[in-house]
Parts: sequence; C-alpha cells; structure tokens
Amino acid sequence: MNRHSGPSLEPAHDLLHAYQSKRDFALTPEPAEGGQSVAGRLCFVVQKHWARNLHYDFRLEIDGTLKSWAVPNGPSFDPSVKRMAVQVEDHPLAYADFEGTVPARQYGAGKVIVWDAGTWLPLQDAQQGVRDGNLKFELHGHKLHGRWALVRMKGKGEKQAAWLLIKEKDSFARASAAYSVVDELPASVKSLGPSPRGAGVAGAGHRSATDHDLHDLPLEAMPSALPDSLAPQSWASRASSPNAAVAPTGLRGQPTGSS
Ligand code: MN
Repeated sequence: MNRHSGPSLEPAHDLLHAYQSKRDFALTPEPAEGGQSVAGRLCFVVQKHWARNLHYDFRLEIDGTLKSWAVPNGPSFDPSVKRMAVQVEDHPLAYADFEGTVPARQYGAGKVIVWDAGTWLPLQDAQQGVRDGNLKFELHGHKLHGRWALVRMKGKGEKQAAWLLIKEKDSFARASAAYSVVDELPASVKSLGPSPRGAGVAGAGHRSATDHDLHDLPLEAMPSALPDSLAPQSWASRASSPNAAVAPTGLRGQPTGSS
C-alpha cells in the first residue's frame, strides 16, 4: 500500500504521548507541544545534550513530529564509521528550537544546545523507511551535509530500537582520522537561524568554506538577527557564570557547565 499521500497512521498528539508522559512541563522549559510544519521544507535538528552522559539527539521531521535518535558519539563524516543511534520517543516540532537546561531530577536533566539545524530530504518515502528500518536522506545543515543513512539493527524487539547512523559515500565524506565534526565544531548554531546559508548549494569548495565560516566569521557579520525564540530568561536561568550572558553566541566558546 502506498502511503505517500494517505493519512498518517497516528495523529501527532498520539505520537507525542510518550514524550509528554515523561515530563512535567511546570518544571522543565521544554515545549509540551506545538511547532509548525512548513510546506515543502522538512526540518532536522541535532541537539547536544549534557545529560547523565553527553550525547547528540538527532531529530528528523516526519509526519508532523520529530522522529528522534540518541547518538552517544554524535555523527561522523567517515562512511566506515557507524554511530549507534538509539531511537527514542517522538518530540514535538517546537523542540527543534529548544536550547536550555532541563532541571535536576527531571527527565533528561542537563543542558541542551542546538548543535546543528537545517533541512533534510528523504530519498524514499520517509514513513516507510522508518518502518522498514532503512532510511536514506540528504542533510542540508550548518555542519552536516550530503547523504546519510539510518539503519535499524536486528534485535528482539527491545523497547528502544538500536539503529546505526552512517555517512554515505559522497563528496562530503571525510576520513575520521582527518576530521571529527563533533570536535571541530562543538558549539551552538542557534544564533545562525534554522536555515543554513546556501542551503542545498553544493558548489566547488563548499566544504572548506563552511568550516572556515563556522570557525572564523565574526557573528556580527551574520545576516540573520537573533531569533525571537531565543528568550533571555532561558540563558539567565542558568547564569551562575558571568560568561553565560554571552552564551548565545555559541560558536565562540565551549558550553559551560553540565547536567
Ligand atoms: Mn537527549
């Protein structure tokens, strides 16, 4: 059965039940729901999360929610490196903008930054790919580019399915010995906005230019203003250090503090 144009299997509020039941929204600054789909544009986000263990939450907009995988080591541009990606509960679309700190003793307690964001393009039917455990796609982010795959590992129906996040071979691929994106580009991209400059552009020299920009271009030179959603209180709330006041500039410094 072709589900390309059919109704989704479950409405978004059912998909979010697990997400909502784990959290107390009177205590956590995370969004309970919400977020808007934009026609013709599927968003992705990778959030760096200093929970009990640092990990990277990889999220793809599918069917009105963010399908989510926790990737302990984060993505690698090396096609020979397969990164474990544990599927976790769907998150609301509004979560793509979330940066802040989940308070102690709450689910996922610890700091979250938007490590990368942009748009993604499924290379087959996305719902079918998730069901089949084999999803191939392109990423157009600030940091992540090119073709990738998520492949579910065979298992005995564990509650949290284990997948692998794998870079496909293309012009963006790089050997892990030469390049580690999580180490080279550790900081938030939130102040850059959700859409990467030159999204979808794959011209000559794009890769080194992107890295150069992220490292060296002064943020004052960025054309985008800080998004309205970057509420000062979300930063002030964790401001034990005076440096926290400038934390939204992100790309300049290592995040301070942890869970
Ligand atoms: Mn997480």
